[in-house]
Amino acid sequence: MTSDLLLAGAGLANSLIALAVAEARPSARILLLDRAPGPSDLHTWSHHLTDLSADWLRRLAPARRATWPDQEVRFPDHARRLRAGYAALDGTGLARLLCDRGIEIRWNARITALDATGATLADGTRLGAACVVDGRGGRPSPHLVTGFQKFLGLELETPAPHGIARPCIMDATVSQQDGYRFIYLLPFSATRLLIEDTRYSDGPDLDEAALVAEVLRYADAKGWQGAREIRRERGILPIALAHDARAFWADHATGAVPVGLRAGLFHPVTGYSLPVAADVADVVADVAARAPALTTDTLRRAVQAHAIARADRDRFLRLLSRMMFRGCAPDQRRRLLSRFYRLPEGLIERFYAGRLTWPDRLRIVTGKPPIPIRTALACLPESPLLQEKS
Ligand SMILES: Cc1cc2nc3c(=O)[nH]c(=O)nc-3n(C[C@H](O)[C@H](O)[C@H](O)COP(=O)(O)OP(=O)(O)OC[C@H]3O[C@@H](n4cnc5c(N)ncnc54)[C@H](O)[C@@H]3O)c2cc1C
Repeated sequence: MTSDLLLAGAGLANSLIALAVAEARPSARILLLDRAPGPSDLHTWSHHLTDLSADWLRRLAPARRATWPDQEVRFPDHARRLRAGYAALDGTGLARLLCDRGIEIRWNARITALDATGATLADGTRLGAACVVDGRGGRPSPHLVTGFQKFLGLELETPAPHGIARPCIMDATVSQQDGYRFIYLLPFSATRLLIEDTRYSDGPDLDEAALVAEVLRYADAKGWQGAREIRRERGILPIALAHDARAFWADHATGAVPVGLRAGLFHPVTGYSLPVAADVADVVADVAARAPALTTDTLRRAVQAHAIARADRDRFLRLLSRMMFRGCAPDQRRRLLSRFYRLPEGLIERFYAGRLTWPDRLRIVTGKPPIPIRTALACLPESPLLQEKS
């Protein structure tokens, strides 16, 4: 054995697992393997401060690139400042944090075979471990039906202060194209701004050149001409419409334990995964702290039970995704979102954190129906979408 815990992929899910286990079981020898040449600044992982426990806020604080005290949304018929704080991590900060905690990450380590006892690298090296976790990112599954959240972001240095004081997580006053479209703004400094053109679309195609042009057009319209591009990020995230977690885990009864996007562990409506990854990392850390030995099979039982319970709890969120993608014409999706952002702030915070209460759920679906009742009823069952796919 070369390590106690081998984490395949040094992305978000596995980085959080490494941090939590390093605290829970300081003697554990943890090794992360990633095919990338080094940490990437292609990612900013944002989250609402209300998404995370006090332990996670403390643990991740050194990796934060920015923190803001509040945020806002804008729609054609209303705008609103939201009181929840917001923060963004980046790949470099997260990798540095792991390094500071003495956790080993091996870059340029492309895994060609992975099983419950270890990994084989492209150069033929075999690395064994008592416990092996697969966090190598998303992969299509017959047990998960998705729509897409696609985005292209440019981080710009503006020649003069841009005047954006707080994150605007949705500026949906823009023209609607390719589904629900909005602009996401993160002001990293008075002259540094991430502008992201985002669409909730039925298909995964992303025309990068067209989206870049849209971002620059938005910047021009706001008076930010002459801005210099510093960085760009793009993503095509799954939005869960239907998920059969029991069938997924039945297919993963052997081999390394899947986590992160690979295990369908993300927020069904936003496609974001930081809070979900933190919860999974807590489960792994709990096993590491309590079990006499951390093994692949012990961990599988715990992660599987957590993932299935979460998928059951997320049923309502997947219904919301179906109402948006299947119950609503693409150009009508904005109406649904506009209505949602008029709801009480506590509810909005619990929605993002994936902790909606039963009264919250009732509150979301009662009142003037955002889509016709008959259409809403047709969205209720999840199984037809899974059957369609198989
Ligand atoms: C540009 C972008 C921005 C995003 N922003 C946010 C955000 O703000 N907030 C949020 O919560 N979510 C965000 N997401 C969504 C989601 O949280 C991320 O996709 C998240 O990184 C998923 O975590 P993961 O660990 O499952 O996979 P990843 O973080 O993608 O990690 C997978 C890792 O596995 C490695 N790998 C893959 N194959 C191999 C192999 N064969 N051998 C070795 N290594 C391998 C990859 O190099 C990668 O580092 C964003 C996604 C993208 C693409």
